[in-house]
Amino acid sequence: MRKESSVPLTGNDQFEGYAVDLIHEISLALGFNYKIQLVPDGSYGSFNKQTGEWNGMIRELLEQRADLAIADLTITFEREQAVDFTMPFMNLGVSILYRKPVKQPPNLFSFLSPLSLDVWIYMATAYLGVSVLLFILARFTPYEWPAYADAHGEKVESQFTLLNCMWFAIGSLMQQGCDFLPKALSTRMVAGMWWFFTLIMISSYTANLAAFLTVERMDSPIESAEDLAKQTRIKYGALKGGSTAAFFRDSKISTYQRMWSFMDSARPSVFTSSNGEGVDRVVKGKGTYAFLMESTSIEYVTERNCELTQVGGMLDTKSYGIATPPSNLNYSPYRTAINGVILKLQEEGKLHILKTRWWKEKRGGGNCRVETSKSSSAANELGLANVGGVFVVLMGGMGVACVIAVCEFVWKSRKVAVEERLSAILHE
Ligand code: ASP
Repeated sequence: MRKESSVPLTGNDQFEGYAVDLIHEISLALGFNYKIQLVPDGSYGSFNKQTGEWNGMIRELLEQRADLAIADLTITFEREQAVDFTMPFMNLGVSILYRKPVKQPPNLFSFLSPLSLDVWIYMATAYLGVSVLLFILARFTPYEWPAYADAHGEKVESQFTLLNCMWFAIGSLMQQGCDFLPKALSTRMVAGMWWFFTLIMISSYTANLAAFLTVERMDSPIESAEDLAKQTRIKYGALKGGSTAAFFRDSKISTYQRMWSFMDSARPSVFTSSNGEGVDRVVKGKGTYAFLMESTSIEYVTERNCELTQVGGMLDTKSYGIATPPSNLNYSPYRTAINGVILKLQEEGKLHILKTRWWKEKRGGGNCRVETSKSSSAANELGLANVGGVFVVLMGGMGVACVIAVCEFVWKSRKVAVEERLSAILHE
């Protein structure tokens, strides 16, 4: 990376970062001088089959303009044919960079979420079915006879009218019970089974409810590379001419082959000339673009830009190494020496320290960790937004009850008025 500075810098001083520190450590151990030079075409190195030529850093090595290529340069089979690589100094894999799932505002009626719509409909149907069956069986069985005479010869109506059956079923469903109970074996069977049903349903509902009320709903359209491959709404691409694009191009796995043909045929092009451009496209795309990038770069970006995240795991495993000119050029005496130093740095934990320094500490690293810990502390509190729907239902129920009360009053007074008029006529 270029150093941020208000005064013009020259030479090696212009640059900083993991690779710069790594080569510095190696130079200290082996005692050599070096000059950092940027690759003119800004590419990592890919082989053009038509022209039979390499570009990027690999070309610089082959044409002996550079002695070492040190960058996030992936060790690949194709490159290994042309140049040599030292021991790997970092391991990684291809993954997906995408926008963080947006938090959905809590749903007013989230208390309905523990059960799916189908289940609610089935439950309502079961409720009606059981009520009607109870009513029919109570008419049918002689032990719930619709009407009988009590000890004083008074006629007692059976309690099991259709409305009462519905009241019985809803009372059990709400775990409250009801002031009359079935007496016949058949109707008791209906009641028992219905109680068993409500027991399981209410327990399942309660068990699921807490999770639905407290967990913030995240709207994440993709969770893995398979999800990306299945759809076309979210475009996705990779760095042009890098090992990531080559991974998809050469893959034998059908998902990745499909992803490659999508990327290759997409117009406008989904390939970018740098990782930075890809990251910009993900940010500006607002969910319409995902970028396939190496996990190390994704980790670097997501430490700094809290809007972004890695989606899914790694699609492969590979490593970065320092490239040296091929040994057949008889030109690179450094490889074995550098191998030794890399191993030593790794064993001493220096590579780990360097990684932490440049990924998590310097240049705004660790930016996003603060944010996540803040939001998790308030996660258990339920706000009105979470449970508001229950109040709405309560108010709605009270309103309906008032309306029904008015209707009952009007109905009864009409009946009374008619009866009074009738008896008045009879008296006359
Ligand atoms: N590190 C990769 C390379 O060496 C760049 C990439 O494709 O992400 O080509």
